[in-house]
Amino acid sequence: MAFRPRYLPRLTYPFRVLGMSLAALPIGVVLHDLQAGWLPWAWLVLSCGIWPHLAYVWARRSADPYAAEARNFLVDSILAGSWVPMMHFNLLPSAVLVTVVTADKVNSGIPGLWLRALPAMLLSMLLVGLATGFEVDLPSRTAVVLACLPIMMIHTLAVSANIYRLMRRVQAQNVQLEEVNRRDGLTGLDSRGHWEDQARRLLQRHRGEDAPASLLLLDIDHFKRINDRHGHGVGDDVLRALAGRMRESLPPDGIRGRLGGDEFVVALPLRPDEALAQAERLRAAVQSLSFPGQPDLEISISVGLASPPATGDLRAWLEAADAALYRAKHGGRNRTEHLTPEVAGSPS
Ligand code: GH3
Ligand code: MG
Repeated sequence: MAFRPRYLPRLTYPFRVLGMSLAALPIGVVLHDLQAGWLPWAWLVLSCGIWPHLAYVWARRSADPYAAEARNFLVDSILAGSWVPMMHFNLLPSAVLVTVVTADKVNSGIPGLWLRALPAMLLSMLLVGLATGFEVDLPSRTAVVLACLPIMMIHTLAVSANIYRLMRRVQAQNVQLEEVNRRDGLTGLDSRGHWEDQARRLLQRHRGEDAPASLLLLDIDHFKRINDRHGHGVGDDVLRALAGRMRESLPPDGIRGRLGGDEFVVALPLRPDEALAQAERLRAAVQSLSFPGQPDLEISISVGLASPPATGDLRAWLEAADAALYRAKHGGRNRTEHLTPEVAGSPS
């Protein structure tokens, strides 16, 4: 469902008050020039002086303030449309009014509103034109031009400032969103996508500069059983505690991520023999974990270690580590196995 903020009326209110007050200026000058009677003047007071406040109260009291505000925007267009024939189509203020109220519809962000507002405005123009005899007096004398300047300048700047504020907020939210996407929500380790990006870079460095690289794929042993016996909450604690050990025990330049479930992964800028020592250290550190209120809970992990593939392909690297992990699980769990991608890929 589309975003329908209830605070839209509060956001719109000051802009409507400002826009209508500034619009009253050129309209008033034209009415004065046309020596208009009391009815157009009363209409001016109603549409520019009273309507913005009425619109706000109306929308705030509505059960659906967003829909009510969308309706208010349509009323704005109808009012603007009515002023064009009442000003005898005086060129500059008519063009400014029509432009400003159409731009307001676009800036409101309400989908399709500007398009719906156009026929409403044209119809109002037509009906008021028919009622007032379609008198036409296009030229705008200097006083009218001057009276148009505030709405053109102040309204444009106010709207631009608002858009600027919104853009800054969107940029800040994008940064937050990126950060959220990079992290696994439960453990705070790298999310799968972010981990893959970094692991790919390590592989490229390995291929280009022959930098050492090793991959550890780790999986908690009998994690399902832990969940069943101790509850999902304790299961989550175990996942977080394992992530903690991965942070503490492994070198800081290791790229740590959670692939999903109880499966974790670390790309290390180390030779496989060095990575094997790290895996064994981590395995011992995990075994020493204890959990308050769960004295009989013991944790172990199985680890698959893979050297980088000659192809430089991350998928092949992960498959090799997965084959090594499979071997560790089938070899009795709580151990580390090492496979090179070429061995992993060959038929056994
Ligand atoms: P194995 O030794 O062969 O790995 O056995 P296992 O029981 O650990 O089997 P497996 O790795 O397939 O089990 C993964 C379990 O992890 C299944 C699922 O219910 C559980 N799980 C997945 N994600 C979460 C999570 O975010 N929190 C908790 N508590 N459990 C999870
Ligand atoms: Mg498991």
